[in-house]
Amino acid sequence: MKSYNYFCSTQIQMGMGKAIQLPEMLQSLEIGSSILIVSDPGVVRVGLVEPIQTALEASGYRTLLFDSIEQNPRDADCLEGAKIFHEFDADAVVAIGGGSAMDTGKTIALCGPNGGTPSDYADGLRSYSNIAPIICIPTTAGTGSEVTRSAVITEKSTHRKMTLKHASLRPILAVLDPSLTFSVPSTITAATGVDALVHAIEGYTCKVTNPISQALGAKAMQTIVSSLPTAFRDGQNEEARQAMLEGSLLAGLCFGSADVAAVHCLAEALGGLYDTPHGVANAVFLPHVLRFNAAENKQMHATLARYMNFANDSDTEEIAVEKLIEGVTSFTEALEIPRLKDLPGVREEDFPRIVELAIQNNSTSSNVRSITSTDYQQILEQAYYSNCIEVSG
Ligand code: NAD
Repeated sequence: MKSYNYFCSTQIQMGMGKAIQLPEMLQSLEIGSSILIVSDPGVVRVGLVEPIQTALEASGYRTLLFDSIEQNPRDADCLEGAKIFHEFDADAVVAIGGGSAMDTGKTIALCGPNGGTPSDYADGLRSYSNIAPIICIPTTAGTGSEVTRSAVITEKSTHRKMTLKHASLRPILAVLDPSLTFSVPSTITAATGVDALVHAIEGYTCKVTNPISQALGAKAMQTIVSSLPTAFRDGQNEEARQAMLEGSLLAGLCFGSADVAAVHCLAEALGGLYDTPHGVANAVFLPHVLRFNAAENKQMHATLARYMNFANDSDTEEIAVEKLIEGVTSFTEALEIPRLKDLPGVREEDFPRIVELAIQNNSTSSNVRSITSTDYQQILEQAYYSNCIEVSG
C-alpha cells in the first residue's frame, strides 16, 4: 500500500471584499506590528495595494511597500527585498499580487531574517528555519502560491528557474478576495487560469500524488474548465472570478502536497530563458505532454477527460483520451493563447538548453511516465512544428 501525507497549515479566508479586513484577521495571529508589503508595479498601478496598506496603517501597523519585482522574479529582487526587510526591522511579510509577488514575498521572509541567497536554499546549502510569517493575498487566479510550500525564483546568472520548497514557506494566512481579480486583463486571466488547470492535472497524475490531492484536483479541473471561458470574456463576472479563485486554490492544494511534472519542467525552462509568462509556457506544452503521458496511462487520462467534460462515460478509453487532447487544445485556442512558435524569442537553437533545464528540474522525476532528454526534445519539436496533435498508442 502506498503511504503519503497531506499537510496544509494555511488559514484560508475567501470572500468578496475580504482583503480590506486584513487588520482584524492579523490581530489573532500575533505577528508583530511592522509589516513589509511586497507587490509588483502592475498591481500597485491598478490600485490594489493602497487600500490594504491604508487599512493596516489605520489599525496601528507600521508598513513599508517593496515593489521592485519583475515577472518570473529574479534572485536579485529577493536580495534587495531581504535587505529592506532587515533595515525596516520587519516582523512579517504581506504579499499582494500574482505568483511573482507572492513568491518574492516568501523568499524575502526567508532571506530577510536568515541571510543567504535564494540559490543557497534551493541547492540545500542553507536550512529553512526562522522564517518570518507570510500572509498572501493573490490578485491572479493561477498559481495557488497562497497555499503552497514553494517559491519559484529565477537565478539571473544562469536563467535557471529554481523552486525553493519547504513546509515553512507556506503562508500562515491566505486572503482570497475575488474583487481583486476584476482588473486582470483577459490575456493574463487566460494564462494564469491555464496554469491552475495544469496544477490540477499534474498534481492529480504525478507519481507522488495521493487520494487527497486527487480529490482536490478533480474538483479544480471541473471548476476551472467551466468558469475560465466566462472569466476570460467577462472580467467583471463575480461568479466566474470567484469560481476561478476557488479553482486555483483547489489546484494549489492539490499539487502543494504532491508535485507538478513535465509540463511545468518545460514551462519553467522557457520562462527562465525568455521570460515567457508562466501560464502561457504551460499552455503550449500541455496537449503534447498529455499525449506522451496518456500513451502509457490511458485509464487515468480517460478519467481526466470525463472530469473536464471533454468525454462522457460511454466513450471508450481510447476515444476519451483523444477527446482529452482535442478538448485541451481547443480550450487553450479559444483563450487565444499563442503557440510555441509565435512566442517572442523562442529559437530552435535553444532547444538543447531548454531540454537541459527541464531534465535538471526536480519535478521531472514526478512525471507519471518516465521521461528522458530525448522525450523532452520530441515534445518540444511537436509543440513547435505541429498544428494538429495526434494520439499515439
Ligand atoms: P505574475 O505574478 O507574474 O503577474 C503577471 C502580471 O499580471 C504582472 O504584470 C502583474 O502586475 C499583473 N497583475 C497581477 N494581478 C493583477 C490584477 N489584479 N490586475 C491587473 N494586473 C495584475 O503572474 P502569475 O501567473 O500569477 O505568477 C507567475 C509566477 O508564479 C511565475 O514566476 C511562476 O513560476 C510562479 N508560480 C509559483 C507557484 C508556487 O507554488 N509558488 C506555482 C505556480 C507558479
